Amino acid sequence: MTKPSKPSVDRICVRPDLPLPEPTAPLTAPIQPTSVWRCETTAQADALLGGELSGYVYQRDGHPNADQLAERIRELHGAERAAMLSSGMAALAAVVLSQLRSGDHLVVSDQLYGRSSLLLEQETERLGMTHTAVNICDLDAVAAAMLPETRLIVAETLANPRLRCADIPQLAELAHKNEALLLVDNTFATPALCQPLRWGADIVMESVSKMMNGHSDVMLGALCGKQRDWERMARVIGAWGLASSPFDCWLASRGLATMALRMDRACASALAVAEHLQQHAAVAAVDYPLLPEHPDAELAARLCNGKGGSIVTLHLHGGREAADRFIRQATDIPFCPSLGEICTTVSHPASTSHRGLTEPQREKLGISGGTLRLSIGLEQADELLQFIDRGLASE
Ligand SMILES: *Cc1c(COP(=O)(O)O)cnc(C)c1O
Repeated sequence: MTKPSKPSVDRICVRPDLPLPEPTAPLTAPIQPTSVWRCETTAQADALLGGELSGYVYQRDGHPNADQLAERIRELHGAERAAMLSSGMAALAAVVLSQLRSGDHLVVSDQLYGRSSLLLEQETERLGMTHTAVNICDLDAVAAAMLPETRLIVAETLANPRLRCADIPQLAELAHKNEALLLVDNTFATPALCQPLRWGADIVMESVSKMMNGHSDVMLGALCGKQRDWERMARVIGAWGLASSPFDCWLASRGLATMALRMDRACASALAVAEHLQQHAAVAAVDYPLLPEHPDAELAARLCNGKGGSIVTLHLHGGREAADRFIRQATDIPFCPSLGEICTTVSHPASTSHRGLTEPQREKLGISGGTLRLSIGLEQADELLQFIDRGLASE
């Protein structure tokens, strides 16, 4: 009797998955973590890799979860093209690597996200580019900073932590007069409030890790722009390895479904918080774009669809000691140096986002030891005011 052949455990384990027969289609898009796709013929592989045929071959060069999410974000921004990247910083890097070359000059806001300043001011220098950092709200200063070789202006719709609003239409005009591009980081506003391309920007970047996903469990960036500027984008994302993960895109699609609802709630609470803080004896000043005292109140309301966003910055009497007391006492408001969570969180710019600056530099931006930045979450507004009051109470 011949011995039955050994059941091929190996064979079963390594066998490629077969597509399941599907008479119905799933309502929710499946996560497709496959790193590679099966090709049918050599001619097809040739055409796919040569770009004559559109389709998936290798995850780094494109995958369905990224394309589904990018398509939605493209529509939100009214853009011709959109791309997903592994983080907001990867998105910014892709703009530099696809649009600029050695010898180019950048005009960058002096109030950018810390890592953005690092990339655009220091890393670009190593690549042979130069830059001028300016107060982006001072349009004369921006105009004066433009050089014949300026190719890119970089601004944030609402800047951290004073929530100064960039005059996107005017900046676009200055950029285009110089044949430069205007790149707007729209992370604090989200497309729920502002669509910078509609105001004249050429490229908009979003850190999807923040409010757009909204659940603090994803790292992703998005870029939207014009066909004209997209020629090198896919090549740069593939060649420099800046691509997104299918799982993160799938989670962010889920988060994005509630972005408008979450932003509505957070913006309404943020205004209530800002008005409440203004009345509090422990608070020296409050920054919120909808407060009439805010230097850009009118502009922000116009560009952000009448909303002020979900971030409120307060300046406490009593400096860093008072900030530490708030963090210690407001036990329902976690101290997290990020933003866009489900719950309200607090950050302390002087020890986190702006710790790399000298004290006089921080002072110039209006950041003291007593400055706190609240990222407003989805709590009921009156409960949230109680959480805040507990933090502000004297011991
Ligand atoms: C977080 C953030 C970034 C960077 O995005 P990541 O997804 O963390 O890489 C850029 N700009 C702003 C305004 C941000 O808040």
